[in-house]
Amino acid sequence: MHILIVEDEVPVARQIVSALIEAGHNPKAVYDGEAALNEVRKTAFDLIVLDIGLPRLDGFQVLRRVRAQDLAGRVLLLTARSAVDDRVTGFQLGADDYLPKPFAMRELVARVRALGRRYPEQSLMSLNLGDLTLDLDTYDVRRGAERIDLSPRELAILKVLLREPGRVFTRTELCERVWEHAHEYDTKLVEVFICRLRRKIGDPPVIHTVRHVGYTARGACATP
Ligand code: CA
Repeated sequence: MHILIVEDEVPVARQIVSALIEAGHNPKAVYDGEAALNEVRKTAFDLIVLDIGLPRLDGFQVLRRVRAQDLAGRVLLLTARSAVDDRVTGFQLGADDYLPKPFAMRELVARVRALGRRYPEQSLMSLNLGDLTLDLDTYDVRRGAERIDLSPRELAILKVLLREPGRVFTRTELCERVWEHAHEYDTKLVEVFICRLRRKIGDPPVIHTVRHVGYTARGACATP
């Protein structure tokens, strides 16, 4: 698995990297919260091993943004042994598992392996709807053989919609998933991006308006 380790204690991060390489994974370490967010925006990771106490952005802030923007698969939190509140908060924010510190490396490797087994269907290579394909590795979007050029925001909106075809997203929900800071968005902007996306994707339409609610992605051949 492609794994991001976010841990500011460099010796601990290095030990985790070695243990995971030895277990056949492909890990990368960063040492603060902002670096973690930059990394997950650039690359699709199967799992993030996330410490809570971090410089710049703490683990909870990282987790909140990762989940809001639908950026990574699974998250394993590293918590203090006695911090029940931390674990509860972590699960509420969408962590998949936690490991109390200090831990034995072989326990970490075992948890990582278990998380890999638990959600095999999440290691998707692409999102497809009818003849529309979004490659999650290269972010290449195609309709049939034809490549469609999208801006990062258009791509982010399309990704949210294609992950759950048929689900209706309100404008606010789309904003929260796609924009990092609440003050940066305006739900009217979503309409602008949806309009451009529709024009670029072409006919038959894939993104449908659900009156007074929001938007949904549905293929021409998908069953209602
Ligand atoms: Ca720490």
